[in-house]
Amino acid sequence: SMIPDYLTDVLEHVEPDTSGATAGYIPELADAEPEQLGAAFATVDGQVYAAGDCDAEFSIQSISKPFVYALALADRGFDAVLARVGVEPSGEAFNEISLEGGSGRPLNPMINAGAITTHSLVGVAGSDPAERLERVVDGLSAFAGRQLEMDESVCASEMAFAHRNLAIGHMLRSHDILTEDPATVVEGYIRQCSLLVTTRDLAVMAATLANRGVNPLSGKQVVPEPVLRQVLSVMATCGMYDAAGDWATQVGIPAKSGVAGGLIGTLPGQIGIATFSPRLDAHGTSVRGVSLFHRFSSDMGLHVMEVP
Ligand code: GLU
Repeated sequence: SMIPDYLTDVLEHVEPDTSGATAGYIPELADAEPEQLGAAFATVDGQVYAAGDCDAEFSIQSISKPFVYALALADRGFDAVLARVGVEPSGEAFNEISLEGGSGRPLNPMINAGAITTHSLVGVAGSDPAERLERVVDGLSAFAGRQLEMDESVCASEMAFAHRNLAIGHMLRSHDILTEDPATVVEGYIRQCSLLVTTRDLAVMAATLANRGVNPLSGKQVVPEPVLRQVLSVMATCGMYDAAGDWATQVGIPAKSGVAGGLIGTLPGQIGIATFSPRLDAHGTSVRGVSLFHRFSSDMGLHVMEVP
């Protein structure tokens, strides 16, 4: 196959770009090895192509958000989830205290306010925090097709500086969007963000979204099919925060970034794509990851709005 050579070529092309910086607000992420660089494609028929540091582990961070949204929709149904988290792009940064006037509902599940709420909606109603977290870990592991572990030092490091997410949690509690101790929910959300994945895992997770919720390696139905249209639509409109419009027009692939340097894209019915490089731009998205996706999109004509 030509694909591994192609991937190696594009990685070499973006490697000289050392602009951006590792996430400064989580000390453990600030110290990540900044030169790491990897990319992987996973097709819906279960082929995985990977290059560079594709087996290096890093924390999933915000890339967990669409998957946990999928689990919440599967567990509680659309009405219960939509009553607490909207689907409108916020045009704001990931950690903006962005709540709908009146209801206090977070605008969408990709920003932190929405993702913290979504975390609270996983599992059967009345689950305790440990059961909920177990559902998140098992669900994300099913998307990846292997058991995922938590990075306790990344988790502790983020917990120590979680003031902004705690403030968001308290705002949500004051609007009764959260109905329990907000600190407990925020801790669960931060644990969710510290799950360790590889670029290869992320490509398989993205391919599961592309494949009607069926993991193409394990053959397991992870979430019911109707959930996928909802999740991919929200990724397409809100996944890149305040860069969502630039991304939609220039790259045109539903995507989600994470502050550890991971980035995924999903082409329904085709492939999951993942990249990893820790230095971030001003939106908190991997600099080299953005360049790689621009290249993938134009080299292979992957923009979803373009007639093939
Ligand atoms: N755990 C991070 C936070 O909530 C995730 C942010 C991201 O990856 O965009 O601040």
